[in-house]
Amino acid sequence: MRDKIVAGNWKMNNDLAQTEDLLSNIKKLYKENREVRVIVAPAFTNLHHAFESLRDSPIDVAAQNMNEHKEGAYTGEVSAQMLSSIGIKIVILGHSERRAIFNETDALLAKKVDAALENDMEVIFCCGEELSERKGEKHFEVVKSQLENGLFHVAEGQWSKIVIAYEPVWAIGTGETASPEQAQEMHAFIRKTIAEKFGSELANKVAILYGGSVKPANAQEIFAKEDVDGGLIGGASLKAEDFIAIAEAF
Ligand code: PGA
Repeated sequence: MRDKIVAGNWKMNNDLAQTEDLLSNIKKLYKENREVRVIVAPAFTNLHHAFESLRDSPIDVAAQNMNEHKEGAYTGEVSAQMLSSIGIKIVILGHSERRAIFNETDALLAKKVDAALENDMEVIFCCGEELSERKGEKHFEVVKSQLENGLFHVAEGQWSKIVIAYEPVWAIGTGETASPEQAQEMHAFIRKTIAEKFGSELANKVAILYGGSVKPANAQEIFAKEDVDGGLIGGASLKAEDFIAIAEAF
């Protein structure tokens, strides 16, 4: 069976005190559940604290981004090796905010994926179409090309380190969610696209998360879909009660 994952993408929210607070509330509410893997992704400055605070807990910590280079004159950047050295073994790559605001291309993301894998890190690779692309019925094409150009160079043996997050841009932070049927349709398409390239045995093992306005009220019906293996949660991950309710929605 595939991993079921609920990951909280905190984005640029929470200073140190707020991070301490949110983590302690999450820990209080969290009942160990072997069915679902729970991950939180605080900002860079709070990763070390989060890692230490969750050391004795099954909750994992991820970074929201990283640089593709090993080291050097890249002012303001953080490498995979630096993240690994503080215990961070998971990174979110290709979030639509990184793509849109920071101009990250699939070619750049392919390099970041390689840097993560070289450091034995897991990757949560985000893909998803904009509203105009869905309206123009280009959504399958767009997602396929993001996968082909950002991820499909990964060798078969490395796919156990890959998780995919489908996040339609029009559903992120907008309150508008893809319907469970729209999510399932795209997730099945993503799995089929992976199967065409790498075979169905591999494709059936890849966890595909849905992201975009997931909340306690809609998590259960989305997670109930066959090809939806969990969620990447933005806004609702900033409230411990909501985040844990979502993690318990399986
Ligand atoms: P949202 O964000 O849950 O606030 O829509 C999801 C994401 O951007 O990962």
